[in-house]
Amino acid sequence: MCGIVGVHAPGQEAAGLASLALFALQHRGQESAGVAVSDGEGVMVYKDLGMVAQVLDERRLPSLRGHLAIAHCRYSTTGSTLWENSQPSYRLGPRRAVAVGHNGNLVNTRQLLERLRGGKRRMSGTSDTELLTALLSDEPADDLVDALGRVLPGISGAFSLVVMDEQRVVGVRDPHGFRPLVLGRLPGEPEGWVLASETAALDILGADVVREVEPGEMVVLGEPGGPRSVRYAEGREHLCVFELIYFARPDSYMLGRSLYEARRRMGEELAREAPVDADMVMPVPDTGAPAAVGFAEASGLPYREGMVKNRYAGRTFIQPSQAMRQRGVNVKLSPLREQVRGRRLVVVDDSIVRGTTTKQIVALLRRAGATEVHLRISAPPIFHPCFYGIDTQVETELIAARMDLEGIRDYLGADSLAYLSIGGVLDALQLPRDRFCFACFDGVYPVPVPYDVASHKFVLEDDPVVASAVTVP
Ligand code: SF4
Repeated sequence: MCGIVGVHAPGQEAAGLASLALFALQHRGQESAGVAVSDGEGVMVYKDLGMVAQVLDERRLPSLRGHLAIAHCRYSTTGSTLWENSQPSYRLGPRRAVAVGHNGNLVNTRQLLERLRGGKRRMSGTSDTELLTALLSDEPADDLVDALGRVLPGISGAFSLVVMDEQRVVGVRDPHGFRPLVLGRLPGEPEGWVLASETAALDILGADVVREVEPGEMVVLGEPGGPRSVRYAEGREHLCVFELIYFARPDSYMLGRSLYEARRRMGEELAREAPVDADMVMPVPDTGAPAAVGFAEASGLPYREGMVKNRYAGRTFIQPSQAMRQRGVNVKLSPLREQVRGRRLVVVDDSIVRGTTTKQIVALLRRAGATEVHLRISAPPIFHPCFYGIDTQVETELIAARMDLEGIRDYLGADSLAYLSIGGVLDALQLPRDRFCFACFDGVYPVPVPYDVASHKFVLEDDPVVASAVTVP
């Protein structure tokens, strides 16, 4: 996933605003955080492994001065969790200083590496974003916007970007618009602007939503006259439908839809598609809650909370290794025994990826005295890997790719299991199918994925030149 922010705030300290907005995007990536800032003369970057509040604390921010900033929190899809791969990625090239924050995943990394080698430059990290930063800093063009106009048509895959040099911040969406990016206006005078992955990040700054950046568009901040739109490619939107089902915050809006309301309606559809005789409906907290509310409303069953979440534990799915994920669930959820004991439960969650967490939740509820556990999932089964910014690149890790429905139910230890259909998702969203990427459900990839990228996420660490430039554990 990753969260990105860009700020142009004349007369204000942009790094503080960008860090605050990034705090609202913490759910999008917990491996590293960072900010790049410019006062119009030079770009300075501060970043580290860790959560936003740990990295960008009050001791750091006062030294990061300037009216332009970008910020990033990382969830890795290409390259290991190394300091070198944390973002914003920065490069002082022969022509310009460039800092980049990237949400997404490029699929032509080999090709870009060859192009970079042609210029005899070395990488300082093993992420796809490092490649892009190096290409932009080297590009012989008059300014950053021209450099982007030359480099972007050569990159392929999913990318929502915030890019800056000394004088501008530029927001970019790839021609398919896989990942979201929204433009907002900061309150007060003089006029200031903000770009962010989600509208929830604008809310925290008191900014008004202006519009979504369009697929194939750049929005340039920092110039007189307000934001400038530059179209660098034809756009045809394929927004990741999982953003609406699960990844983005429920208080965010995308494509004019409240994500809470969309998820509540997915729960209603699920109750119609897969009714069950039970005593109560409960969510897997917190992300299953809107769909569980919708399921309860449509089914007439009472809605209760059957588990509490330790609000200081991270989201298990976006921890980078299976071992960490397994430890994560134990510290994250505990049952409300009085609520579940002796009851037949409908347990609503928004997705099953590997199944590890769901299996532990079912066991936890049974130990707490539930007599039946009926799982209802407000998304279709995930049969195919994602190469556009979600770390599900290994098909064998996906439970639905390995087992049929009965096999999954048996593995999870549930009394029954049902998923929402693709048609049910679309009925809830009330938008046409061709506006979305559904590739992990239907296997139709809007951008072809070459074999070396499909094979694993450490594609650049296999390259001896790249590997020699950084310490790879
Ligand atoms: S493959 Fe799935 S997770 Fe990846 S962008 Fe498409 S819908 Fe989203």
